[in-house]
Amino acid sequence: MAEILKVQNLSRHFDLGGTTVKALDDVTLGLEEGKILGVVGESGSGKSTLAKLVMALDRPTSGEVLLDGQNLFAMSPRQLCAARRNFQMVFQDPYSSLDPRQTVGTIVAEPLHLDPGAPKGADRREMVGALLEDVGLSVGDLTRYPHEFSGGQRQRIAIARALITKPRLLVADEATSALDLTVQKQILELILKLRAEHGVSVLFITHNIGVVDEICDEVAVMQHGKLVETGAARAVLDHPQQEYTRQLLSAEPTLEVIGRKGRRVASR
Ligand code: ADP
Repeated sequence: MAEILKVQNLSRHFDLGGTTVKALDDVTLGLEEGKILGVVGESGSGKSTLAKLVMALDRPTSGEVLLDGQNLFAMSPRQLCAARRNFQMVFQDPYSSLDPRQTVGTIVAEPLHLDPGAPKGADRREMVGALLEDVGLSVGDLTRYPHEFSGGQRQRIAIARALITKPRLLVADEATSALDLTVQKQILELILKLRAEHGVSVLFITHNIGVVDEICDEVAVMQHGKLVETGAARAVLDHPQQEYTRQLLSAEPTLEVIGRKGRRVASR
């Protein structure tokens, strides 16, 4: 199957007054169309740096990000604008990314402003309403405001906004980490449903290896900006090849959840 996303020898170094921080150091990985790739690692391992580069919100020190084989950093502004419709991002804290002064209908439709051919007026409202229902909200929510919703519902609004341009790639950066366990599980189920119905590929970034067990096909384990181990999620979780992955798996749990496949995993 074709790779929708390929990260090739990607590095991002920061020069802090004579000291170089290697936030990302020569990382190569690929995501096949329709798959969910989990990027897992502790705080500071380079996950957000990777997400920003994949979204072209930052430029690498070296290396490439290929979307459908096209290097994002070699694109003209016009090409990048067109490519952007194909990828969207969902962040950890939906509240800070939802404008409190706008209605849900306006918020969800906002990415359509990049697309002059997008439906307008009643057609647009119908499209947004259908998407709200798709993510477990309702048409009646179109005229409500973000503060009227719970954390999990706000994340559903953020996901609906991310899906409005029918992206082929969704980058979820700690998208469930701020939610309590039951809501987390509902959002993970929603992502699986959207993958099944919309065929969207997902780069799922998390510090929580238990979440990887819930939804990811593939996993990439990161430490100090480097890729430690990568492979099919089941194989890596059941038979980790690297000591660091074993440490992550056996990290002292504060909570335990039963994974989708019935395996008991640690959740922090
Ligand atoms: P994670 O998302 O896994 O927590 P980050 O990608 O945010 O990790 O950060 C990786 C490393 O890069 C950390 O040591 C962080 O301090 C450093 N870093 C990230 N962004 C910057 C920046 N703009 N300037 C300096 N250092 C940075």
